[in-house]
Amino acid sequence: MRSIQHYINGQSVGIATQKTHGVLNPATEEQVAEIQHATSEEVNQAVAAAKAALSDWSEASIARRTKLLYKFRNLVLENEHYIAELITEEHGKVHSDAKGEVARGIENIEYACGFAETLKGSYSEQASTGVDVYTIRQPVGVCVGITPFNFPVMVPLWMFPNAIACGNTFILKPSDRNPSAPEFIIKLMNEAGFPKGVVNLINGGAETVNQLLSHDDVDAVSFVGSTPVAKHIYESGTAGGKRVQALGGAKNHMVVLPDADIDLAADSAVSAAYGSAGERCMAISVVVAVGEVAEPLVKAISDRIDNLKIGPGMQPDSEMGPLISEEHRSRVVDYINSGEAEGATVVCDGRMHSPEQKGFYVGATLLDNVTTDMEVYRDEIFGPVLSVVRVQSFDDALDVIAENQYGNGVAVFTRDGGTARQFQKNVQAGMVGINVPIPVPVGYHSFGGWDDSLFGDTAMYGPEGMRFYTKQKVITSRWPDPTSSQVDLGFPQNT
Ligand code: NAD
Repeated sequence: MRSIQHYINGQSVGIATQKTHGVLNPATEEQVAEIQHATSEEVNQAVAAAKAALSDWSEASIARRTKLLYKFRNLVLENEHYIAELITEEHGKVHSDAKGEVARGIENIEYACGFAETLKGSYSEQASTGVDVYTIRQPVGVCVGITPFNFPVMVPLWMFPNAIACGNTFILKPSDRNPSAPEFIIKLMNEAGFPKGVVNLINGGAETVNQLLSHDDVDAVSFVGSTPVAKHIYESGTAGGKRVQALGGAKNHMVVLPDADIDLAADSAVSAAYGSAGERCMAISVVVAVGEVAEPLVKAISDRIDNLKIGPGMQPDSEMGPLISEEHRSRVVDYINSGEAEGATVVCDGRMHSPEQKGFYVGATLLDNVTTDMEVYRDEIFGPVLSVVRVQSFDDALDVIAENQYGNGVAVFTRDGGTARQFQKNVQAGMVGINVPIPVPVGYHSFGGWDDSLFGDTAMYGPEGMRFYTKQKVITSRWPDPTSSQVDLGFPQNT
């Protein structure tokens, strides 16, 4: 059994531990690791290490930072299969999905390797006579990343490679539900040769997070997780004067118009709703069926559900694994019960769990005739439950999305370019797919939703991430001929 420790100032620590808990394999319910929660002293040590490393690291040349990031990228690539195995063992998602997560994470390291270009700044020569103006970007300082269970590798990689490329130091606080893969990649940073204290990791729960949030020496906080916690992190972090980006939960709609290709739409809905057992912040959880498309679409989706293979993530033919915990499994089942009680039609029923069967499984569930006042529609379920809301028109579909509390991802399926363009312009969400059900932006764009899916102004990774991890400085400079100097009390005009 693995014993997960903190990683502070270039070494594993965890002796002073006050609290431990077990990490289970959700497919077998067996304990595979033990995690130690940081003491208050250990949190202070991690922040002190990050602060001490800051001045040297922010002075490190672009060439040095880039070389180390390249080495780290290569080490993650060399170990991608093992990392994916760790993810599957503690998260439950199938191995191919876990490999996809690692690949998308590597994309973010590769973007950070190109930061020399991204952070070049800008220069205006002769902004006024003999005056040049230029903008540079400097590190923010000690940055903290707090990450969710559902992408234990990709989400940390959204954060720390970019933060470090910009000259900051970093403390990662990963989810305590699947800590082995994040611990492994942080150790690879050491193997790549990053100086001590540049990247640190501490494990724990709300108490650890709250100590970091109120620590005077923490300058910026990146958070990804559920909406209530995101709101709390944003409010308390900014109240303490920190820079905060906090990404929350989601309820992602896929609008299917009457002219859409039904097979493409059904394949996409099934892939996006049930991949990773619905435990993705970009999972499609609502299909908005416009007009007469509803009947054939519901049939096409349910036909595909019948063929899905549910089983342990390391079993080669499994397409969907278990949920993260027994508590979450029973929460998802409660939502299906509530949808049925409120009048939804249960077309495919995933409540097939039997007490003898090991693993936190819920089968793919399809609910039709869901209305927007139902709990099953309003709340983020984070499980393999797809709701179908039937509407009469394209405008009705846009209204449903606009009235929803969240605004993360959204998709439209149509063959009409004009309607798709109208959709991209008017829809109220931060990431839009056109015939693409999970529009997670590539590493050189940025990720972020609207409304209750993002607190703060800056999206994550890509160009927005670089902006978040740097402070802008604008320099106005003049090198006048010393013989021509004179006193002038007027406000400078750019003549
Ligand atoms: P969570 O909010 O329970 O936990 C996220 C992190 O916050 C963890 O590190 C956890 O230890 C910490 N935490 C939990 N409760 C806390 C509290 N009261 N105070 C301070 N810290 C606390 O989220 P989760 O269950 O791990 O992940 C699933 C959620 O994350 C879903 O809502 C999903 O939509 C969301 N998510 C969003 C995105 C996005 O990009 N918008 C991406 C992935 C996941």
